[in-house]
Amino acid sequence: MREIVERFLQNPDLTKEEYVELLTCAEDPESVGRLTEEAVRIRKAHYGDKVYLRGLIEFTNYCKNDCYYCGIRCGNKNAVRYRLTKEEILSCCEDGYELGFRTFVLQGGEDIWFTDERMEEVIRAIRQRYPDCAITLSVGEKSYESYRRFKEAGADRYLLRHETANEDHYRKLHPAAMSLSKRKQCLYDLKALGYQVGAGFMVGAPYQTKECLAEDLVFLKELHPQMVGIGPFIPHHDTRFAGAQAGSVELTLFLLSVIRILLPKVLLPATTALGTLDPKGREKGLSVGANVVMPNLSPVKNRKQYDLYDNKICTGEESAQCRGCLARRVESAGYRIVDERGDAL
Ligand code: SAH
Repeated sequence: MREIVERFLQNPDLTKEEYVELLTCAEDPESVGRLTEEAVRIRKAHYGDKVYLRGLIEFTNYCKNDCYYCGIRCGNKNAVRYRLTKEEILSCCEDGYELGFRTFVLQGGEDIWFTDERMEEVIRAIRQRYPDCAITLSVGEKSYESYRRFKEAGADRYLLRHETANEDHYRKLHPAAMSLSKRKQCLYDLKALGYQVGAGFMVGAPYQTKECLAEDLVFLKELHPQMVGIGPFIPHHDTRFAGAQAGSVELTLFLLSVIRILLPKVLLPATTALGTLDPKGREKGLSVGANVVMPNLSPVKNRKQYDLYDNKICTGEESAQCRGCLARRVESAGYRIVDERGDAL
């Protein structure tokens, strides 16, 4: 095992340069083994064999942004757009509640039809019907005031991946109208408002270097979010990155372990993107430190339309099938799904 791994295990608070060195160990089986072992030990110390469920409701694929990697970016004229009504969203929650879900994640593009008033209406309706459930939002960059109103209406958590903590890299993935500083400000605003916050990034995004990933780790350490979403980048055929290589499953697993050690109590999903690149990807994620899975609760008729990247899995099954399939997968990894909100410790 390499010396840098020892140092990281003793004190995970490394410098950017040291994280770059740590990342070179992703190809050293002995180092990977040692990091995985420690990540699993920490995960079990805090969460035992519990895995939390988050019911993902992809409620709109309209988006005003043009993130170059994303299949639902506004520039993609081939995307077939949809948005769910409040009643449809509530019906997704109803199905989910029956199946034991106690967290609903409302995710969407940045859809201007969903004004603050309309968002509040949806949040309030869910809050009123499901007082024992957590409401997570993932609707992109908004003003402090909008975030405040959503919180007031009953939202508890917010997922906003920072995407990359390196300025140059950020500019290569997004149009000039978007900026890393804005993205980071949103995350700090959300924290200040008392949300449980999720940041994160894609592994193997175009132009990503070890330095970028090292900066992601430094940023995570600084922000100290309650949740971190990472998954491999997967090309989408209608983007400029159609011909780019997908991210590596192994590197994603390595980073899941590193993040578990860096932020011991973090809520860490084994993502759909990981399951898309490798049929056993989510099980593998759980066995290296992840403790959350996010099955799809969206109406089956719209699932294929929330098309962030090619070949996304679970776009054909009913919610109940997804729940059953995931329960089996989680058990095969030696863990068990619990019907709890799964708040940050
Ligand atoms: N509009 C919301 C939700 C974005 S979709 C927001 O801005 O936060 C959720 C996540 O999917 C994104 O944060 C991004 O990291 C991921 N994603 C988008 N395109 C992807 C691709 N081609 N491959 C892998 N992940 C992708």
